[in-house]
Formats: sequence, structure tokens, C-alpha cells
Amino acid sequence: MDFYILTLFPEMVKQGLHTSIIGRAAENGLLNIEAVNIRDYTLDKHKKTDDYPYGGGAGMVMSAQPVYDAWKAVTEKIGRRVRTVYATPQGEVFRQEHAKEFAGEDAVIFLCGHYEGVDERVLEEIVTDYVSIGDYVLTGGELPVMVMIDAISRMVPGVLSNEESGRTESLENGLLEYPQYTRPVEWNGKRVPEILLSGHHANVEKWRRQQSLIRTAARRPDLLETADLCNDDHKFLSLYQKQGADAYNK
Ligand code: SAM
Repeated sequence: MDFYILTLFPEMVKQGLHTSIIGRAAENGLLNIEAVNIRDYTLDKHKKTDDYPYGGGAGMVMSAQPVYDAWKAVTEKIGRRVRTVYATPQGEVFRQEHAKEFAGEDAVIFLCGHYEGVDERVLEEIVTDYVSIGDYVLTGGELPVMVMIDAISRMVPGVLSNEESGRTESLENGLLEYPQYTRPVEWNGKRVPEILLSGHHANVEKWRRQQSLIRTAARRPDLLETADLCNDDHKFLSLYQKQGADAYNK
């Protein structure tokens, strides 16, 4: 899958995305991540890429011309228009379903805003998706774009090793993941739950499912409204709400 990132700070995204699992996938040719410097496309003789907002007010606005020309050069290189995502606090909030959906594309262009944002006219011209990473305001779109590319890349076949992709992560089945433990068996006076040492696969699976349900109910009860729950899950949750830990053994 090809990712093109239109940014004023290419080094930031290159460094952020060229390590660990995503870096390995890029090296193996599964992902192609290109940072395109918007400044290289400005026609301003002082290399300016922003200007004062019409109507007054604080801050600067990224000019339409260099953003458009950078986008056009990438689009011509790809050979067709592809989905173009503008990272903005005004967008739909990015979720795991978006990561899966974007992973089905061959190529996606991302636009990172800065300062007060980008001249609206070029957004109207090029953007297909307005996406936020949460209800807070950051100084630039680079971190949000790195977050999205990381989450999308994990969904591209082959990026995770078999072992990594076989795991059930939080949110993949609509619930939060159960707690995880590794060696030693005892640390700081706390033991790993006995069931995980039992070697009884079916009981371990049952315990993990119950832990996922408890954790989701405690931390993200909103997810339970849309999670795919079976009768046993509903029974366990209502028992747990009445009896607490005693519900485990029922
Ligand atoms: N004036 C803009 C507004 O009120 O919508 C905010 C501009 S923000 C300071 C600068 C840039 O950071 C934005 O253009 C956007 O690219 C990025 N950004 C900030 N917060 C974001 C968020 N929560 N999700 C995605 N991008 C964000």
C-alpha cells in the first residue's frame, strides 16, 4: 500500500514511521511511505507557504497554491485521483473500522495542516475525507497522520507477522482486550492469575472473555452497546454486576 504525506515537516513523519513494525514492512516493500515537502512546491520567491487570514484574527493560514501543486504532483505520479485525507479536529473521529476500511485502498494521500489550518478553497478541491484523531487540538497534522498510518498499516495483509496478527486486540471484536502477563510468575508480591498457569485452554479462553467483558464494562461501557455479545456474555455481565468476582465460577 502506498502512503503519500503532504507536510511542511517531512523529517518528522519519516522518522516517526521508519522504525519497528511499520519500518520493517516498508523495508520489505509491503508499504511505501513518501513524505512530500509542501514547501518544495511554493511559487513564492521567499519560499513562503502561509499568509495572514482574510478578515483578521490570530495566526497564519497555509496557502492554497503549494498544497494544491504538491497534491497534483503526487496524483500525477499515481496516475489517478485517490482518497485524500485531511487531518483536522473538524473531521469524523478515527476508529478501528476506518483503519480496516483504508487498508483496502492501494494508495492514500494525507494532508497535514499547521498554524490555523489550510485555505478552505484547496480543501474543497482535493479532500475526500476529513478525519480527526480525537476531540483536542494539536499544533499540526503530522502526529495524527502518523497515528492513522500506523493503525491502517497493521491491517494491511503481511505487515504483522503470523504471530502478531493472530492475536485479538482491543476493539477488534468490539471489546477491550483482557489483561496480559509475562514472566516472572510473581512480581512485587503479585501472582499471575492461576488459571493462566493451568494449561487448560478452554478455561483460559473463558476467563479471557470474561475479563474483556468486565474491563469493557468498567472502562468503555459505551462499547457494549454495539459489541457482538452472545447469551453467555449477557448472563455473565448481569451476574458480575450483582455478585462481583463470585460470578467467575458460575
Ligand atoms: N484552526 C483549526 C480549527 O479550529 O479547526 C485548528 C488548527 S490546528 C492548530 C493545526 C493543524 O493540526 C490542523 O490543520 C490539523 O491538520 C492538525 N490537527 C490538530 N488537531 C487535530 C486532531 N484532533 N485531529 C487531526 N488533526 C488535527
